[in-house]
Amino acid sequence: MAKGEGSYLYDTEGRRYVDFCAGIATCCLGHCNPIVVDALCKQAHELMHCSNLYGIPQQDKLAELIVNDIIGIPGRVFFCNSGAEANDGIIKVARRFGHRRPAADGSPRYEIITFLKSFHGRTLGSMAATGQKKIQIEFDPMLIGFKYVDFNDLEALAAAITKETCGIMLEAVQGEGGVNPVQPEFLRGVAELCRKHDLLLMLDEVQCGFCRCGETMGWKAICPDIKPDLVSCAKGIAGGFPMGCFWVSNRAINEEGTELSSIMNAGSHGSTFGGTPIACATSYAVVSELVKGHYAARAAAMGEIIKTTVEAWKLPCVEGVRGLGLLRGVGLRKGSFAVPEGMTPAAYVNSLCMKAGLLACPAGPDTLRLIPALNIPEETLREGLDILRGVLEKLA
Ligand SMILES: *Cc1c(COP(=O)(O)O)cnc(C)c1O
Repeated sequence: MAKGEGSYLYDTEGRRYVDFCAGIATCCLGHCNPIVVDALCKQAHELMHCSNLYGIPQQDKLAELIVNDIIGIPGRVFFCNSGAEANDGIIKVARRFGHRRPAADGSPRYEIITFLKSFHGRTLGSMAATGQKKIQIEFDPMLIGFKYVDFNDLEALAAAITKETCGIMLEAVQGEGGVNPVQPEFLRGVAELCRKHDLLLMLDEVQCGFCRCGETMGWKAICPDIKPDLVSCAKGIAGGFPMGCFWVSNRAINEEGTELSSIMNAGSHGSTFGGTPIACATSYAVVSELVKGHYAARAAAMGEIIKTTVEAWKLPCVEGVRGLGLLRGVGLRKGSFAVPEGMTPAAYVNSLCMKAGLLACPAGPDTLRLIPALNIPEETLREGLDILRGVLEKLA
């Protein structure tokens, strides 16, 4: 690829593609959006990086915006560079919480329950948290302290909690694992189990957050009344600039009123590049545009177009459209078309789309994921869907 413009990408040969991949759900305002480019360039001329030894106003401003307008629950934010780092951060907070709130016999709690088909990243911590064997092959032994349970199975989850458990971690909509939204009653049940057993409710909003699913955060599109303790963010947070963060609630963890967010004190975590002036200024421009421009509502409306359009084709190879807002998965019916050896159906269809001028991406073996920019014009959305239709009709 050589050049981007809105929801189009151009390769080195000058071929144009409709982009339903958007840098894997990162370029939420399209490619080379002047709002993003101007913020980035302006900050580059002033100060790019100075380390976290000094306070910078860009970080304070952005943290305030994220706490007030995105998360909406009092808390603090730590800035890092990626989703995996954000998840490692919340895993560290959960482990420290397990020390401050030990088991009845005084031993620290350390175990975190996550879910099958989840994806949390590629670092040693976030990979261990990921409930997919294929991500872990030949990197074992894994970091200890993770247990995987079937997604949306409350009984199995309740049975998995032990005296070592300190947290439950999940995506509101599993992205990489096949675009599987959490059921509202399940999410409510998770929150109740957390309260009952003094566990942290840890949400990985890396892919489903920042307006992608039709609300500012993915969980709010499903079950807005729950209150997470820890939230990890990245992907769309800075419109394609590398950036991540995790949010920690200010809620009290004991009778003395110790705030959860205070258990990570200066020196307990850090990042040389986390939250640089240039990353924060860029992210601030993106997030304030997302909020001001009501992009969450727009994502919901555009996502409906994807769902109703694709389902109206009534193609035998399509098994429905899952997901919320502009995080959509087209289910590909097993055995309904021939797939070249060594390829998954999703990877095969994705490669055909690319040849036809549409960029998407697989999510698991049988799901084609559509995650365009949140500001994709309706016309471009329909242009991309027409290409998809051509590809799927030929298959069928
Ligand atoms: C992409 C993703 C990650 C990892 O983010 P990186 O920036 O690639 O480290 C973690 N969790 C979820 C849900 C993701 O989609």
